[in-house]
Amino acid sequence: MGSGQVINWQGKHVTVAGLGVSGVPAAKVLRGLGARVTVVNDGDDERARTQAAELQALGVTVRLGDGDTLPEGTELIVTAPGWKPDKPLFAAAEKAGVEVWGDVELAWRLRGPDAAPWLAVTGTNGKTTTVQMLASILTAAGLRTAAVGNIGVSLLDAVLGEERYDVLAVELSSYQLHWAPSLRAHSAAVLNLAPDHLDWHGSMEAYAADKGRVYEGNRVACVYNAADRATEDLVREADVEEGCRAIGFTLGTPGPSQLGVVEGILVDRAFVENRQKNAQELAEVSDVNPPAPHNIANALAAAALARAYGVPAKAVRDGLRAFTPDAHRIAHVADVDGVAYVDDSKATNTHAAEASLAAYESIVWIAGGLAKGATFDELVAKSAKRLRGAVLIGADRELIREALARHAPEVPVVDLDRTDTGAMRAAVQEARGLARTGDTVLLAPACASMDMFANYNKRGDAFADAVRELGSGEG
Ligand code: ADP
Repeated sequence: MGSGQVINWQGKHVTVAGLGVSGVPAAKVLRGLGARVTVVNDGDDERARTQAAELQALGVTVRLGDGDTLPEGTELIVTAPGWKPDKPLFAAAEKAGVEVWGDVELAWRLRGPDAAPWLAVTGTNGKTTTVQMLASILTAAGLRTAAVGNIGVSLLDAVLGEERYDVLAVELSSYQLHWAPSLRAHSAAVLNLAPDHLDWHGSMEAYAADKGRVYEGNRVACVYNAADRATEDLVREADVEEGCRAIGFTLGTPGPSQLGVVEGILVDRAFVENRQKNAQELAEVSDVNPPAPHNIANALAAAALARAYGVPAKAVRDGLRAFTPDAHRIAHVADVDGVAYVDDSKATNTHAAEASLAAYESIVWIAGGLAKGATFDELVAKSAKRLRGAVLIGADRELIREALARHAPEVPVVDLDRTDTGAMRAAVQEARGLARTGDTVLLAPACASMDMFANYNKRGDAFADAVRELGSGEG
């Protein structure tokens, strides 16, 4: 579907499924275009009522407490990305021949004829970091850009706002991709694929297929992770524009059409003249912050997309140097008595925690929380040799304790039988007791935080506060 396709919204009956971060702006924009808008929402709480009142004042019909019935006369549904495909509303839509778009599809369809191309990033872990690195590199190249999607500027604002962009760095979740059938990126990367959100997608195959949509119709490059076969398979299965190339990234020496690492240098053997023989130096590993292996992979993916867009090597280096990661992502909090304390509260699944643990040699690991159906055997087996000890907190800590008993029986484990908010302080103190000089105390919970904290930010803050208390001698 090319850009600039004109849709006559006047009087078109659009049902917006779900109030909230994407639903409210979508309803407003559609109303502004002259559509007849009905919002349906499962919940009927205080917040929903406030949002409903605001929309009703604009002439939007809002139906609270029933997100399953298709409003009479609906011609199009615009859904919140999180709504599960097996909801009765979508079955009704299918029966009635009504199309369903997500927030990304809506933004894609509404962008203007001269709209900025999209460089898209998806994957189980590392999306936000990679998109921010990419935006930093594009900015260093003098391009007008923004990191959009789940972060920073919303997609609708980016395509409809006043600001003019040359190119956008777009983070896309598997949910958003599921509901974005006509999206066609300039180039895209799938960083990695590990089981996550399977309850939503139904199966690993369905999850992978939704991630793989990001490659559909790419024009210049499909960027895959050479260490993750599944991402390369998705490239092979994608239907792309003539001439679009498959570009790999690797932490090892790159082959032709890959970016990789040679003796501490990030190098490009994809976007160079005579790639059989030549390589272009992009940056040093130490330019990546933090220079943990998984983060170097993120930097290579960002570099690949930037190079696909034609950015010079120097901008890659400058952009990586200028980048600082968001809070709670392998954030070094303090050194206390020769022990480093690192907050990776954002490691909310086992794949992320595994990457995090791989970044340090000798670790006292603080883990636990809500497991979301995950198993911990593989994570513990792979990380066992790095563990000095483990401190477990949270609702599902038992699962981790059992995995430790199976795969790392010699590692001392403190099981804090607590889920109250003060537990983090106790966990940090226990970790201090286990750590020796040169060790790292790493909060990489491999679990969601909601059993103990409002979110992963609060969990990381509690960790950092407890570490500071140690440092000030109050611990
Ligand atoms: P996302 O937006 O996909 O959730 P983030 O960039 O916010 O990703 O990183 C989330 C967490 O995932 C980090 O705290 C880190 O533990 C882990 N992580 C980041 N990049 C990678 C990667 N390439 N592979 C595995 N884990 C990663």
